[in-house]
Amino acid sequence: MRLRRGMSAVGRPWFLYTAVLAIAILGYFRVPDTWAQTASYDAIAVSGILAMAIGVRRNRAAAAGLWIMLAGCKLIAVCGDLSYAWYARHLHLSLYPAPADGFYLTGGALEIVVLVLILRRRLPARDPGGVIEAVILTGSAALVAWVFLLKPATQDDGLTAVGRLVAISYPIIDLLLVMLLARILIGGGVRNGAFRLLACGMISYLVADYAWAFTNHFQFDAGTFASHLLDAGYLLAFGLYGAAGLHPGIRDLAEPVQVTDRGFSRWRLALLTSATMIAPALLTAQAWSSHNQVADATAIAGGCVAMFLLVVARMTVLIRQVERQASVLENQAEELTELAQRDTLTGLPNRRAWEQRLPLALDHARRDGNPLSLAVIDLDLFKRFNDEYGHQAGDRLLKEAAAAWTSGLRAGDLLVRYGGEEFALVVETGGAQAGELLDRLRPLTPSGQTFSAGVAVWDGQEPSDALFARADAALYEAKRTGRDRVALAMV
Ligand code: GH3
Ligand code: MG
Ligand code: MG
Repeated sequence: MRLRRGMSAVGRPWFLYTAVLAIAILGYFRVPDTWAQTASYDAIAVSGILAMAIGVRRNRAAAAGLWIMLAGCKLIAVCGDLSYAWYARHLHLSLYPAPADGFYLTGGALEIVVLVLILRRRLPARDPGGVIEAVILTGSAALVAWVFLLKPATQDDGLTAVGRLVAISYPIIDLLLVMLLARILIGGGVRNGAFRLLACGMISYLVADYAWAFTNHFQFDAGTFASHLLDAGYLLAFGLYGAAGLHPGIRDLAEPVQVTDRGFSRWRLALLTSATMIAPALLTAQAWSSHNQVADATAIAGGCVAMFLLVVARMTVLIRQVERQASVLENQAEELTELAQRDTLTGLPNRRAWEQRLPLALDHARRDGNPLSLAVIDLDLFKRFNDEYGHQAGDRLLKEAAAAWTSGLRAGDLLVRYGGEEFALVVETGGAQAGELLDRLRPLTPSGQTFSAGVAVWDGQEPSDALFARADAALYEAKRTGRDRVALAMV
């Protein structure tokens, strides 16, 4: 069992199929241009279709129906091949447009629809940035297609209206495929073996179809080897779709994924940059090749404008995203600062907050010319309380005492948990009033507990630690003279 698991790809159905496919495609090069060629071409194509249909069932793929429909679209293309072969080999007729074109275009258009449905399942979240990138890549391909394929087709006087429609439909379907491929490659989500096989299948089809369109457009007889090479491209597409279906990775390929912006990888940036360079490159090529007579100035200018706008739109989306992230981080930083300055048990400001806020309180008092008193509060015989009632009851007492004292204070007063069962208080009053306030707070302490406090009145000059030291000394005096009392520090 363990051995079998360790056997990696070799021995898996998708791998075996791909290996047989490669041999079959190589063998195809040696088949003579007769019905035998048609038969072997379509046998390989059908094997890919069947492999996909059987594979998605065996692998219990999500949205299996959609994958089978995708295989069905490829079957329509096979019908086109058979129809083409019938006219060429049996009737010796070379029609344009031919019934085969109807099959190819229908299959292609339906394939777009099915791929859109799969993509919508896979990428349900809004992803304006990803869509703009796909449009940038497609836009540049569209410009090239317009200059070399679409415009010549619309101007070809040798074609009937239907012929022109057919001639422009092929590049348009291919452009839509380019857009979907870009969306699939950039959109994020699972990238397993099935994903790679499927993407390679699409690329293989597109390369073959564009190569076919260009040789057809330039009436360029590429020779038997090259025409076999084109066929091999199409066959590879059929086969790779089949291998993708047999690959266990097909199971999750149509499962919804969260779009996580993976940032701009180097190759993605290079791809987008190259796409935006196509219009100026085309302009330069036309200008150089015909002494500054640019044949497609309007289309190229339009392409440039579209690219600029799309790049700006992409940047806007990106900037918004960065701004959103920055504001989230800012909020988190604020929350963290707030958390770092709060004592978890009592909810009072802690010693860190005290160190920040005491100097501010002194500044404030100096500015307003108000008196300021600092008190150090210490629970009496708290160790005994803990020993008697337990540590948890001690904790509860600290919490309740903090709440009770807070209720007796005004908004401007600052009460902090200095540490352990010691608290510090700053009020903008003189010593007598501070003493009275503390005497009011003392009986608020829960569970019959008491505290002692030392109060020092700020002289308006001394540093905060000196002020604190005087209050602390007064506290020591309060403890020494019997606890449960407030002692005022000497000046
Ligand atoms: P005194 O009146 O002289 O202040 O006596 P005391 O027992 O309060 O003084 P001492 O400093 O000897 O003991 C302080 C005790 O406070 C020790 C510790 O058990 C208790 N204590 C400090 N922090 C906490 C806390 O967070 N929770 C609980 N439950 N007890 C604490
Ligand atoms: Mg103490
Ligand atoms: Mg104490």
